[in-house]
Amino acid sequence: MRKGILYVVSGPSGAGKGTVMQHFLPRHPGMFYSISATTRAPRVGEEDGVNYYFMEKDDFLRLRSADGFLECAEFCGNFYGTPKEAVMEKLSMGIDVLLEIEVQGALQVMDSYPEGIFIFIVPPSMEELRSRLVGRKTEEQSVIETRLDRAKEELRLADRYTYIVVNDVAERAAEELEAITTAEEAKSERKFEFVKENLL
Ligand code: ADP
Ligand code: 5GP
Repeated sequence: MRKGILYVVSGPSGAGKGTVMQHFLPRHPGMFYSISATTRAPRVGEEDGVNYYFMEKDDFLRLRSADGFLECAEFCGNFYGTPKEAVMEKLSMGIDVLLEIEVQGALQVMDSYPEGIFIFIVPPSMEELRSRLVGRKTEEQSVIETRLDRAKEELRLADRYTYIVVNDVAERAAEELEAITTAEEAKSERKFEFVKENLL
């Protein structure tokens, strides 16, 4: 049986990763969206086990020591990590998995799982990035400035990714993501199995 495809999506905070996912994921109900663990405090409306597994720092570090994360990183003062077991289990069952993680974590996955497909979502301009972060109203001004500084560092690493998608209009960016996943599925290294089983 073919293994699932691991898609890793990154991009500066406020670029619109979550928004693009909201358009993309309902059209891919078979894809497993990995829920990350974080030590960040929940935002208004965020639920434990839905948006994140919200954890105390001690518990997070304990899980990290026990090799419980596929990758993990510190981002603007908080820890974030991908629970390893669920992801590896789905992939081995042939289920495609999508991670939405920042760049340091994605670089770790590039090392440990190079067959993953790495997609970097960028805003159309830095002015638009700032206005999206401000408009989201989920962070204080000082946190927004830290995230904008971090954005430049992240953008410099975008060429390490397989694809770069500009999120100008969210629906269009989601369609581009759709085109990428469709093309990945059609790659001969994956589809030749179909030829062997059905046509030879
Ligand atoms: P991220 O998940 O990358 O941090 P979000 O999805 O939370 O970003 O988007 C940040 C803000 O920008 C949100 O308020 C969202 O509604 C808005 N946004 C996202 N994509 C677009 C877009 N293409 N055009 C205009 N606003 C957008
Ligand atoms: P936020 O606090 O805005 O939800 O997320 C901040 C950043 O952490 C975003 O870039 C998001 O993609 C990233 N992030 C979310 N979950 C994980 C994770 O499990 N691992 C890593 N490395 N980054 C994550």
